[in-house]
Amino acid sequence: MTEQLYLPDDDYRREFDARVEAVDESNGTVVLDRTLFYKEGGGQPPDHGRLSFESGEGRVVDVRKDHGEIRHTVEGNLPKEGATVHGELDWERRYAHMRYHTAQHVVSKVVLDEYGASTAGNQIHDDRARIDFTPAAFDEDDPRAIEERANALIERDLSVEKENRPRAALEAETPDGRSNLDLIPDDVDPLRAVTIGDVDVCPCGGTHVDRLGELGELTIVDRSSKGADTERIEFVLDGPEQA
Ligand SMILES: [Zn+2]
Repeated sequence: MTEQLYLPDDDYRREFDARVEAVDESNGTVVLDRTLFYKEGGGQPPDHGRLSFESGEGRVVDVRKDHGEIRHTVEGNLPKEGATVHGELDWERRYAHMRYHTAQHVVSKVVLDEYGASTAGNQIHDDRARIDFTPAAFDEDDPRAIEERANALIERDLSVEKENRPRAALEAETPDGRSNLDLIPDDVDPLRAVTIGDVDVCPCGGTHVDRLGELGELTIVDRSSKGADTERIEFVLDGPEQA
């Protein structure tokens, strides 16, 4: 099982060393004993970056969990099994995902509080993100109201804490409708909790910034209905990029 080095709270680390546990030349994938590369999941795209090693280097262009293993798809040279590799993240891309993912938590919480709607799905990109809410029927003015409340939280520059917590305690603390806890297998315990100030707590395995001030200004750029009781909003972030 590959150790995920960014968990529970090392989201800002950009480089690491690891040992190659397996190489599949047929599809150009590599399994490492430890990694900083985020595997696609939870609406967050995989990290990209580079692996360098004695016999060459390759670009990591995809990272996915496959049959319980985290597989890095590498273009260029492939390392040999047993080799030591140095990994570096494409930081601009990763940091953008951290900002957008954290902003998704903020917007999801605002909409749950104000409209009683849960997050049914989300997709993060490095320049925008969208969230589907249900049950929801927004009117024309709602996107502006959501945006204002989200920006008010961002302006408070609240801290974003990530830590492992006993599952039972986190289940008790997570508001109804804030998380699909029942989709996380029962044997996952502890769970990684992401806590925003005194405003929100949610189990999540993604990558996030440390302070809301890093998000800058949030603007909702689109809203659409997706079926009878589902609303989709899309937002962008503008502003400070400190890391
Ligand atoms: Zn998250």
